[in-house]
Parts: sequence; structure tokens; C-alpha cells
Amino acid sequence: MATSSGGGSGSGGGGTYSYRNGATHSHKSSSKLDTHTHKPLSLNSSSNSSSKNHVKSKSLGPSSTTQRRNSTTSKDHHPSVPGRVRVAVRLRPRNAEESVADADFADCVELQPELKRLKLRKNNWDADTYAFDEVLTEFASQKRVYEVVARPVVESVLDGYNGTIMAYGQTGTGKTYTLGRLGEEDTAARGIMVRSMEDILADVSLETDSVSVSYLQLYMESIQDLLDPANDNITIVEDPRTGDVSLPGASLVEIRDQQSFVELLRLGEVHRFAANTKLNTESSRSHAILMVHVRRSIKGRDAGHSSENGNHPHSVKSLKPPVVRKGKLVVVDLAGSERIDKSGSEGHTLEEAKSINLSLSALGKCINALAENSAHVPFRDSKLTRLLRDSFGGTARTSLVITIGPSPKHRGETASTIMFGQRAMKVENMVKLKEEFDYKSLARKLDVELDKLIMEHERQQKAFEDEIERMATEAQHRLSEAERNYIDLLEKEKSKYEKDYMDSIRKLEDQLAMNQRKNEDSHIKSRAEVYSEELADLKKMLQKETLLRKAAEGEVNHLKIQVSELKMSEASRKSEILKVHKMLEEEVHQKEKLEREIAILQSQLLQLSLESDQTRHQFERDGLEKDVSSVDSLTSQVKHQQQASGNGEKPSIAKLFEQGLGLQKILSLLEAEDADVRIHAVKVVANLAAEEANQGKIVEAGGLTSLLRLLQSSQDETIHRVAAGAIANLAMNETNQELIMSQGGISLLSMTAASAEDPQTLRMVAGAIANLCGNDKLQSKLRGEGGIKALLGMVRCRHPDVHAQVARGIANFAKCESRASSLGTKSARSFLIEDGALAWIVQNANNEASSIRRHIELALCHLAQHETNARDMINGGALWELVRISRDCSREDIKTLAHRTLVSSPTFQAEMRRMRISY
Ligand code: ADP
Ligand code: MG
Repeated sequence: MATSSGGGSGSGGGGTYSYRNGATHSHKSSSKLDTHTHKPLSLNSSSNSSSKNHVKSKSLGPSSTTQRRNSTTSKDHHPSVPGRVRVAVRLRPRNAEESVADADFADCVELQPELKRLKLRKNNWDADTYAFDEVLTEFASQKRVYEVVARPVVESVLDGYNGTIMAYGQTGTGKTYTLGRLGEEDTAARGIMVRSMEDILADVSLETDSVSVSYLQLYMESIQDLLDPANDNITIVEDPRTGDVSLPGASLVEIRDQQSFVELLRLGEVHRFAANTKLNTESSRSHAILMVHVRRSIKGRDAGHSSENGNHPHSVKSLKPPVVRKGKLVVVDLAGSERIDKSGSEGHTLEEAKSINLSLSALGKCINALAENSAHVPFRDSKLTRLLRDSFGGTARTSLVITIGPSPKHRGETASTIMFGQRAMKVENMVKLKEEFDYKSLARKLDVELDKLIMEHERQQKAFEDEIERMATEAQHRLSEAERNYIDLLEKEKSKYEKDYMDSIRKLEDQLAMNQRKNEDSHIKSRAEVYSEELADLKKMLQKETLLRKAAEGEVNHLKIQVSELKMSEASRKSEILKVHKMLEEEVHQKEKLEREIAILQSQLLQLSLESDQTRHQFERDGLEKDVSSVDSLTSQVKHQQQASGNGEKPSIAKLFEQGLGLQKILSLLEAEDADVRIHAVKVVANLAAEEANQGKIVEAGGLTSLLRLLQSSQDETIHRVAAGAIANLAMNETNQELIMSQGGISLLSMTAASAEDPQTLRMVAGAIANLCGNDKLQSKLRGEGGIKALLGMVRCRHPDVHAQVARGIANFAKCESRASSLGTKSARSFLIEDGALAWIVQNANNEASSIRRHIELALCHLAQHETNARDMINGGALWELVRISRDCSREDIKTLAHRTLVSSPTFQAEMRRMRISY
């Protein structure tokens, strides 16, 4: 950042902070220059202390909002701390040549180290002023340069941060002098690399920590190993997760003392020289990169992690892996920053030259992008920027020293170097502690522990097994001893008992011998006498027993005889009982038979009495002279009844007449319990109903209702047949027809028709319905209650009598319909056609049985009267039948009717024309 002329007007000084130890100083703000001042990079100036706790506490101290925001965005458990790239400017003293050539000219720059400012002369009266973190004059010692530029970074590396120290400037301005001098001839001349290692080695513990270095050269986008010149195309590997870059192909030499490091640097320099000779270039065209890896183990308390784990129980603590901090110091001696066109003398083509400086220009672009906070930073454009990714805008603490020469001849280069430095100052890094758990070493430690435990366990196992074995043998010993003792004791005991036993035996034998001797002396005689007496007694007893037995046997025989006698008498009694039983059953049977006969006779009596009533009435009405035949018929009827009733006692006619019962009584017998009585009663009623004269009385007395009820209540087909016959007779009267209909007669008759098998029953039912069909008033009700369907259903029975009744019903119905249509009360299609009767009608129109044929012929003529039916009739084939009837019918009246009908129907006429029937 440049202030305009006037020697830093408004710059107000960059504050008084020290590059190294700014935190201990206050700093003023408000000038442009202040934008460069910020929290210091390094936090402790004491070079011999690693001061870990200070690092954390200070670096985490109060921060600006930006800082806080940045801190929380860190993914790691270690918060990042903002750390701007620090930039110092170093002015090389005039060399001999310049002292001569520029003797008359003033330096192009004027340093104000106490103000940390540099003035770049534009001309004699004008200059730009720039502020830097440190301004090092031509008199600045190497030691001071190290302390100001490098030490804070080195300390950070020792604390576990990444660090970068880089020199940028025109060739010959002292970059290598600043960084790479070995200082072997003059200790005071030692450069930053050497001094850094001195500090590092002084701080680390070689037992627990390790320091290793790689030394590389980057030339024309190829990385060469300066410690192993054969290795000249090292690849950069990036960890995709962390973004960390590494060079696994580069030699990594562990450093244990300063001397070996200096040797290594020298070797590197030799190799660098050799490589540059080979590549026909010089060191000013290549970048030298020294990488120092410092790996430090941290004892529990010091570790950043420890505070987080502080509350964990002991068991967990003991398993806590050790913490390691891995700091990496990168020292970069960049190629000369002078413009390419000025170094064309080296004989490279322009392309080559571009390639040579590709990395450097890429670095410039990255730094510009970072300084301007641009969204894209082209790190990937070159190997150098890839390698330095962490150094600029990354997590490392970075310190840049820009070297300039005093010569006004190179004012342009100097100005560009200064601008580079100014921009670099704007680059903010987020320094971050590189601390992690050392799981590997924990695993190693745990492995050792485990092996120890395994060994210990094995030892203990062995001891345990030995102990078990020892105890087992001891127990075995004790057991066998106890066994021995037991056997001894047993032996002793046994022999003792044997002895006792033998003693007892001996004693008993002695006693026995003594007793025998005694017996022999005193009892020999008396024993024989005793025996003979006993024998006599026994004989007597035997005789007595024998007698007793014989007596018992006799008694048993006697008893046996008695038992057999008893058995015989019982058998005869049983057979007698059976006989009586049989007689009784026969008696009951007889009685039942008689009762049945009585019932039959009773009903016959009823009928006869009724008939006698009729006869009497007849006589009263017609006088004596008339109807001898009716007496005859009555007599014959009674005779017939008598024959039907079988061989029962024949009641005299007179008696039956005397017993004459009222109609009411007979109707009541329709509901008698006895089936035979019911049958006779229904027959009597049927006979009465056959006479028109009786019909009114029967209906009046509720006979029609009872008959209809019988159709429903009785299962007997005879009753069904007779009752249906009676109903058919009653149905001849118009009033009765209405009554039958109102009492649900159609459905009762249909039901009966459906269940009947006897053709006569069906004939009766069909006859009844046929009669109903002839009533004009009942047409739709009859049809609505299924009368036509029931009628047609009965044709299932092939009997011609049934068919004749069906045909009569259809004819009746058709006649009524034709009447209604001619009266204009019916305009719709015939119900007969609707209910599907037409097919049967056509089928039977020419039936052999005249009783069927005539009715159907009539029915067809009636249907044909109504034009509405014509189309259906044509479709159903009825037209042909009509034509036939009109031509061949033997009954003249029907023939004429058919003819008239055909002639008057336009539909039939049209059809006949269509069919070319000449008519
Ligand atoms: P560069 O590496 O930038 O090309 P060098 O470090 O090789 O420059 O320096 C060029 C010359 O200047 C060397 O001879 C070096 O000894 C000398 N030189 C550089 N800086 C200083 C200095 N601060 N004091 C004395 N001599 C210096
Ligand atoms: Mg150099």
C-alpha cells in the first residue's frame, strides 16, 4: 500500500508494535498504515521457551468480530487464529560495483526503520512511502534479521504450527544471503536456515521428538531432490480431505545435530549447482525449498486436547493416546523476481523463460487474489503455488522478506518487489495448531501392554495349572491312604467277628452235644406210647368227618331238586305272561282299528245325513212324483261310500239321515285332527260344491275360506286334489271368483300346483285358475299374482286333461283381454305374451286333442284382435297358425273369426304381403 507523496502524510506511523512481540505493545490505529497492524504473529520473545500455554491463551485472546467468525468456521477442534502474512524489507548494501557506478547517485530508496517505513524515490523531489512490518537497513545484522523475520515463525513451528519463511526479490539482492548462508567462515553471517535449525534443535528433545528435512529445487515446473539428485521429478500429493500437500517422493533426512544439517545444506547446494549446470541455468532461476518437519510428543497436560478430556474417568484417561504436534517449517529461496525480458541473455527461448518463471508469476497472481479477497485463488496454476498453498491464505504463519538493492538503475525492479511485499501484507492466514492424537503410538503402547498381559496371563495360567496338579496328587495321596486305613480296619473287624462267630459255634456245639446226651438217657420209651394214642384219636375224628360229609351231600342233592322245580315253574309263568301280553296288544290293535272304523262311519254318517237332507228338501220342493232317480243316485252314492269304507258295520241310511249334521259341522270337520276324517269331510264338501245350489251356502258358511286354508295347511295330495276341485267348482261364480282372489287364492293355487304331482290335482288347480281367467275384472290382479305363470308352469305335466285346462284358462284370459281392448280399457300388449305364453300357444295350436286345440284356436283369434299383439305374434310364428285356422278349422265360427281378424289387421296384412302369402 502506498501513501502518496509527502513522505507518508497521514500514515501516522504504524504504531510501535514489534514484529515479534506486538502483543506486549499498544498500537495506535486510524491511519492507512494501521490496516497492516494487527495481533502479533508470535507471542513470546523468549527464545528458549516453547511456551505452549502462552501460545494458546494469547492467540485465542480477545479478537475482532471477523476473527471470531473465522474461528467458528474452522472444522477442526482447534480454533484457527487470524495471522496475517508478515513482511519485512531488507536493503542490501551497495556492492563494490554499485559503489563505483552509482557513486554520484543517491539510493533509490530511503529507509525509516524506526517508523517501519520505506520511501521509494520517484525523482528528486517526490517519493512514495510504504509501511512494512519491519524495515531492515543495509546495516541490519544476520542475527537481527533472523530474530525479526524468522524466529517467531520457528517458535510457532515448535509449538505445532506450520510456518513459512520466504525471500522474494531481484537476483543479487541477498535472498540466498539472508536465508541460505552457512556462516562457516564467519558465524555472524549464518543465515535463517542455519539459525532456525539451531533454535529447533535446542528446543526439541531427541528422545521424544523428531526433526527431519527435505531439500528441494523447483525449476521449470519440475521438482528435484537436492538431497538425492537422481530423484528429479517429484510429484506433489494433496490429501483430498485436508488439502495438505506432501512430497512423498522426496528424501526425508532425520536431523539429530546441527552439524549434520549444515552438511546436508552444503550437499544440497552442491547438487543445486550441479543440477543447474546440467540444465544450463543458474540458481537465480530456480526456487530452493527447505522443509523441516518437527514432530513433538506432548505430555498429557500440555496437550491442547487435555482440557477437553479433563473430566473423563480414569479408565478412559489411561487409554488416552499421546498427543503429537507436527509443525512444518518451509523456507523458500525464490528465484529472482526480475522480469524475463531482462534475463533473455541466458539463451532461453521466450517460452522457456515463461515456464521458468511460471511459478513465480503464479505466486504473484495468488497473492494478488488473496490480497483482494478474490473468490478464486489460482493455486493450481503452478507447482510453487501448490506447494505454498498453506503458506498464503492457509494455516501457516508466514513471514516474507523482500530483498532490494539500492541501485537507482533497478528502481523498476525494486518498485515491483516493494509492491509484491505490500500485497503480501494483505494476505490473511488462519493459523492453526497441528496437533493430533498419536493413535499409532497408542496402538503400539497398547500392543506392548497386551503382550505383557498375555505373558502374565500365560504365567498365571501355568502356575494355576501346576497348583491344580499338585492339589490333585495330594488328594490322590490322601485318598489312597484313607483307603488303606479303611481296608486295614475292615480286615481287623472281620477277623474279630470271625473269631467271635467261631467261638459261638463251638459253644453251641458243646451245648448240643450235652443235650443229646441228656435226651438219650430219659425220653426214649414214653415217645412210642404218645404216638399210638394220637393215631387212635385221629382215626375217630376221620370217621366223624366222613359221616358229616355224607349228610351234607344228601342235603345238597335235595336242594338241587328243589331249585330245578322252581326254575320250571318260573318258565311256565313267563310264557303265560308273554301270552297275556300278546293278547293285550291284540286287544289294543283291535281297539284302534275299531276307533278308525268308527271315525269313518261317523263321516259317512255325516255325508249321508247331508244327502238325506238334500233329498228331503228335493222331495219337499218337487213333490213325490218326481225324481225317483235321485233317490237311486243317493242310494248308489251311499253304497259307494259303504264300499269305500271297507268292511265296517254298515249303518242304515235312515240312521245316517237321522243323525244329519249341519253344514257348519261338516266344515268344522275339515279341521279335524284325524286325517281320514278330514279327507272325508273335504270330499263331502266337494260333492256339495259340485251342486250350484249348495255353492252359495258353502261360501256363506266360510267353506271357501276353509278350503283355501286346506290348500295351505295340508300336505296330503288327496286333500289338495279334492279341495282344488271344490274350489274350481266354486270358482264358476263371479262373486266367488272375487272372493277367491281377495283371499290370496292365486298364490295358494300356484303353490299347490308347484308341489303337486298327481295330474288330477293339477287338472283341478288348472281348472280353478281357468275359471278365474274368465273374469274381466280380475285380469291384472290375476296376472300380477302369478296366475298366468302358474298356469303355464303346469304344462310340465304331459297329461292332456291338464293341458286342456291350461288352454281353457288362456282362451278365457285372451277373450277378456280382447273384450277390454275393444272397449278401449286395455291398450298395452297382452299379458299372455308378456308372461311368455305365446310359444306354448303356437306349439299347441294344432294339438291332436280337440279340447286343447279349440281353446288355443280361440285364444289365438282373441289375441289377434288387438293390433298391439300383432308384431309379437308374427315373430312368435302365430300368423301361420292363424292362417291355418282361417283355412282349415273344422269349427266354422272360429274359422270365420280367424279370417276376419287377418283381414282387418294391417300388420298381418303387410306381413302376409311381405311373405307373399296370397290371402
Ligand atoms: P540473491 O540470492 O538474491 O541472488 P545473493 O544472496 O546471492 O543474492 O547476494 C548477492 C551478493 O550480494 C552476494 O555476493 C552477497 O554476498 C551479497 N550480499 C547480499 N546481501 C548482503 C548483505 N546484506 N551484506 C553484505 N553482502 C550482501
Ligand atoms: Mg540466490
